[in-house]
Amino acid sequence: MSDNKKTLNITDAEWEVMRVAWATKETTSKEVTDILNEKTEWKSTTVKTLLSRLVDKGMLGTTRNGNKFTYFPLVEERKSIEALSKEMLTKVCSKKVGSVLESIIEDSLLSFDDIDRLEILLKEKRNSAVKEVPCNCIKGQCQCHLIR
Ligand SMILES: [Zn+2]
Repeated sequence: MSDNKKTLNITDAEWEVMRVAWATKETTSKEVTDILNEKTEWKSTTVKTLLSRLVDKGMLGTTRNGNKFTYFPLVEERKSIEALSKEMLTKVCSKKVGSVLESIIEDSLLSFDDIDRLEILLKEKRNSAVKEVPCNCIKGQCQCHLIR
């Protein structure tokens, strides 16, 4: 659980497998295949490939018991979700982050608790707010500074 890297280098398919590993804490390729059968048509060979890639990437650990392998997460779900959202926000101009957050909130079903926490967070954010967020893009990748 010491992995602090800020970018997640995993595919959508690998993410599906990680979710099973986080939920079950410890799992087998058969269990992952059975669980994901609900939303994918992945064969056990596909799942085994995904599991071994995740082991190679340091996302999962594995132990062998006879010829049975079990897999367990080496990175925390919360940290990975944080990395995922950070990664998503690096893909847009920093000037647009506010409207991305707005559309995420708009599209989300939230509890009263969620809204209370967001309201507190936004009040705090006001203390460090700026008049205009600076653009962080290279020239030509956003409308802030077109080179043509
Ligand atoms: Zn920009």
